[in-house]
Amino acid sequence: MPGAKKVLVKTFGCQMNVYDSERMTEALEAEGYRETDVLEEADLVVLNTCHIREKAADKVYSELGRIRQVKEERLALGRETQVAVAGCVAQAEGSEIVSRAPVVDLVIGPQSYHRMPDLLRQAASDRRSVVETQFPEEEKFERLPARGKARTATAFLTVQEGCDKFCTFCVVPYTRGMEYSRSVAAIVAEAEALVARGVSEVTLLGQNVNAYHGASEGGGTASLAGLIDRLARIDGLERLRYTTSHPRDMTDDLIAAHAHEPKLMPFLHLPVQSGSDRMLAAMNRKHTAADYLALVARIRKARPDIALSTDFIVGFPGETDADFEATLKIVDTVGFAQAYTFKYSARPGTPAAKMDDQVPESVKTERLFRLQQRLDGQQKRFNAACVGRTVPVLFERAGRHDGQLIGRSPYLQAVHAFADEALLGRIVPVEILGSGPNSLSGVIAASATHDKFPGHRGIAAE
Ligand code: SF4
Repeated sequence: MPGAKKVLVKTFGCQMNVYDSERMTEALEAEGYRETDVLEEADLVVLNTCHIREKAADKVYSELGRIRQVKEERLALGRETQVAVAGCVAQAEGSEIVSRAPVVDLVIGPQSYHRMPDLLRQAASDRRSVVETQFPEEEKFERLPARGKARTATAFLTVQEGCDKFCTFCVVPYTRGMEYSRSVAAIVAEAEALVARGVSEVTLLGQNVNAYHGASEGGGTASLAGLIDRLARIDGLERLRYTTSHPRDMTDDLIAAHAHEPKLMPFLHLPVQSGSDRMLAAMNRKHTAADYLALVARIRKARPDIALSTDFIVGFPGETDADFEATLKIVDTVGFAQAYTFKYSARPGTPAAKMDDQVPESVKTERLFRLQQRLDGQQKRFNAACVGRTVPVLFERAGRHDGQLIGRSPYLQAVHAFADEALLGRIVPVEILGSGPNSLSGVIAASATHDKFPGHRGIAAE
């Protein structure tokens, strides 16, 4: 729309921030904004921030430095620019952001972004910065506009927020608040809206998603397994995933759902953080390495081909060589399809930041390198084991090469194949011919016949 205000939303951090950015953008579009990815064009710039590691927070201030220059250049041309900082750094640092970066007009926490349009108007009319980091009574989801246009055939859907676990290294309980679960009815309505817009795969999000306990449609409380069972009954919703889980909340019914619900994908992200009981206790994870291994055995009994992913922290305060060896041992014992590895980063306000025996950076770097080598080898082997198999792939977008599509296998592996764009958004059998560290390649399987995929032109193998 000519003359429409332009908004640039930049997202840092986790999938939940990706989801929040989509909802913020939809709320601003309902106010007449149009998205842009050109900073110089933006009448409004929103930084949706992450506070999980030191570097993440620092990035925000360097970004604000660049934005200040553009804001001044636009002002010299008579064009106003508003700047908003949202997400977990906003929640953690609040008004300190305005004092460190006066270019900021609005600081808004993750629980209040439904109020962004009103607060931007307030900042403009009062010509002063506004800071909103309360945990409001009202539920933001009910005040957000309906879901907008789907970006691809996959979508995130937040079902639970906050966390009551208080792991000693983590800021989430302080930036996202206590565990809160949305009602089953609200989640079903949003999922149906997404399916109506062409989405066929939904990933259910929560900082501690398997602790989900939302109001059920028939009264009472539903667990995550109950929610999955309900969502699986939505026509057109072909695939379900969920992240991020805590080992202590992997309930029997959720493990059973992996055995009997065909729409629930055989991929589970289950952070373990360390293989050392001493470190797990210091992290306040409330389980041992043996508990984790027993849980993995039960999950694999229910779904033998399940792909397991995890998180590891190296260099947690007090971590010895023996503790680190225990981490390598649990890696060898489980065998992960994917993993995220991090050097411990002291976060302000967390108990671990005040602990003695902080590990030297050089030791963290050396341990991270050895751990990543071990895990990269496992991921390569997991991918290589798929060569020669035919797997159903949901094609999400065009690839880098002409005629190439990229999609996801049930094990969340990236799969690329040369195929007709008519297959975008479809789940297609792909014969896997090659594998790399992070992806697979293949051709549309002979079983993908025309009647199943009308308009599909056969494409030669890569
Ligand atoms: S369970 Fe996850 S989100 Fe919750 S405190 Fe621990 S690390 Fe943070």
